[in-house]
Amino acid sequence: MTDDHGSAAAAAPKPGEGGPTDFIRAIVDEDLAAGKHHGRVATRFPPEPNGYLHIGHAKSICLNFGVAEERGGTCNLRFDDTNPTKEDVEYVDAIKEDVAWLGFAWNAELYASDYFERLYQFAVGLIKQGHAYVDSLSADKIRQYRGTLTEPGRNSPYRDRPIEENLDLFTRMRAGEFPDGAHVLRAKIDMASPNLNMRDPTLYRIRHASHHRTGGAWCIYPMYDFAHPLSDAIERITHSICTLEFEDHRPLYDWLVDRLIEGDKPRQYEFARLNLNYTVMSKRKLLQLVEQRYVAGWDDPRMPTLAGLRRRGYTAESIRDFCNRIGVAKKENVIDVAQLEHSVREDLNKRAPRVMTVLRPIKVVLTNYPEGQVEHLDVINNPEDSSAGTRQVPFSRVLYIERDDFMENPPKKFYRLSPGGEVRLRCAYFITCREVVKDERGEIVELRCTYDSATRGGDAPDGRRVKATLHWVSAAHAVPVEVRLYDRLFSVEEPENVPVGKTFLDNLNPRSLEVLRGSRAEPSVADSSVGARVQFERLGYFCMDPDSRAGALVFNRTVSLRDTWAKIAQRG
Ligand code: ATP
Ligand code: MG
Repeated sequence: MTDDHGSAAAAAPKPGEGGPTDFIRAIVDEDLAAGKHHGRVATRFPPEPNGYLHIGHAKSICLNFGVAEERGGTCNLRFDDTNPTKEDVEYVDAIKEDVAWLGFAWNAELYASDYFERLYQFAVGLIKQGHAYVDSLSADKIRQYRGTLTEPGRNSPYRDRPIEENLDLFTRMRAGEFPDGAHVLRAKIDMASPNLNMRDPTLYRIRHASHHRTGGAWCIYPMYDFAHPLSDAIERITHSICTLEFEDHRPLYDWLVDRLIEGDKPRQYEFARLNLNYTVMSKRKLLQLVEQRYVAGWDDPRMPTLAGLRRRGYTAESIRDFCNRIGVAKKENVIDVAQLEHSVREDLNKRAPRVMTVLRPIKVVLTNYPEGQVEHLDVINNPEDSSAGTRQVPFSRVLYIERDDFMENPPKKFYRLSPGGEVRLRCAYFITCREVVKDERGEIVELRCTYDSATRGGDAPDGRRVKATLHWVSAAHAVPVEVRLYDRLFSVEEPENVPVGKTFLDNLNPRSLEVLRGSRAEPSVADSSVGARVQFERLGYFCMDPDSRAGALVFNRTVSLRDTWAKIAQRG
């Protein structure tokens, strides 16, 4: 993803040719064609370091970095760190890791806090122009004076303070002479504006709080709406791409850059954020899930965070593929999380080595198989792709198969193993169940079966057919593994849509995690390392968890082989 922009530009395919197209890219291409911004494209991804990145951020990252990459431009990673009380270096580090993991390289790593002095000077400039004033109303009063959507606001009694007095007060705000909330700096725009963002918005507030980068250097901090456009201007951003909720802030964005920036000005464009069903995406709610321990952490594999998806086994490619498929538009919609699952299934189908693992084992003894004999059978890695070759899997007299693959009293359409029935063990032999052995409590302890030595490899020379092929492992050779079966964290499509008195937490899926401790995998898994992704045949895609220790491997289910929720919805 980090090819040489220079040569890409020199090869000059028409901008965006072959790549994704959408209204943002169309705007950028028009601007390029018209020679706007001196033919430059400069974007930025501006996370606030107050939480981990989630799949919604991935959409923004793919767009900002993608546009720059495809059009020979630049994209900065800019931390919007203007709110000292909620931000932390832990988040800065996690965000960098996640953007890099997605496969993007930023041109510069920047921090709004690096601009605090320049932002302060911009504010002084506005005061000198008569466009900003220090207001000494309380926060409550400011709210009251603000009016509502249907009523205009009222001017603050401090609105017409002389410039000199404003400058003096603002200097003393910075110097720490006043407690939190004593004064704010506001833009002087229009208290009757139909757009509430234009009713003399607050630009600076006093907050005696230590900042994770500037420490105690400042006790006044700029508001997002002030810092953002000016940070864009400082970095000479051309296209400031953000989500729709900022559409109403654009007039303020333009108001500020028009008054403070000479020459080429950044412009803001809004697109619809990603919404996924069965998912919450607000950082505040994700933080709540972590802090109140509904999940094991920001990287819990059920979280929609990039760290969680990675631990779950998602590949960066599958997430980028998903972002390309959903596209970028101006209209809000909700994407089916099944689309994300589809993207990872497709990608893992191509890349994940196959392994046989029995999740809930039941013992099978082949009574006519020689004691002590071990065969190493060639098992086909991918029946759909012969280039994937074969691997050797040990086979012996005592095996495990999946408990679900046996039924003592099967219904009509059950074709797997049952008393007297014959099935194929994958790439091994046909076996027939002769006897079901139970303990005193009536629980099945083993199935005594016979095998047909003429069916080695899984085909009967007499053309005899069986209707089921089961996966298996050799009991003496299998590796015990812990398997964590993850499912959707919420059991309803719109977890945030709740009646009064309920919260999104009431919609948590009580079965989002099932831990299996007695699973058995074919010996080849012992060679995998943390992060390795495999397909457990017939079951799904799995990824080795960092909790794994030698002899105690742990696998997370990334996704099942088929969409089981679609069936549930159909049955509905
Ligand atoms: P919060 O949910 O706390 O309001 P945020 O998700 O907007 O915060 P930021 O760190 O401000 O968090 O987001 C960084 C960038 O990612 C912003 O440009 C924002 O518009 C974009 N972004 C955030 N959520 C989504 C989403 N669901 N889809 C697309 N882009 C998003
Ligand atoms: Mg935000």
